[in-house]
Amino acid sequence: MPDCIFCKIGAKEIQAMVVYEDPDILAFRDINPQAPVHILIIPKKHFDSVNALSAEDNTLAGRLVLAGRQIAHQEKLADRGYRLVLNIGADGGQSVAHLHMHLLGGRTLKWPPG
Ligand code: 5GP
Ligand code: ZN
Repeated sequence: MPDCIFCKIGAKEIQAMVVYEDPDILAFRDINPQAPVHILIIPKKHFDSVNALSAEDNTLAGRLVLAGRQIAHQEKLADRGYRLVLNIGADGGQSVAHLHMHLLGGRTLKWPPG
């Protein structure tokens, strides 16, 4: 996806504050943080959203969640709690069309979300 900003971050063509990387996944700090810790966890491969995943992507989808768990531990959030969020499409509030999971923490988060 040539014009996708998260593909470019995943390929290290655009800089980001990387906190986790493996061959298929990159995690970096959000440029406009909504909490003291706000990290985006992406597959390096482009998917428009969760809607574009298929059954064969089950391992990758699970590894995104496990990366979130590991990063939460790194950021010392595991005991106090945190939130993993996937926004999908217009009503979901998705603004970047490359699948990403938010890790939010470091403050008490409200529920329900806006
Ligand atoms: P969405 O609203 O699609 O769920 O989340 C997209 C997130 O990407 C937003 O929180 C926004 O601040 C973040 N974001 C957009 N562009 C960039 C960028 O170039 N670098 C980083 N680090 N975050 C970005
Ligand atoms: Zn992309």
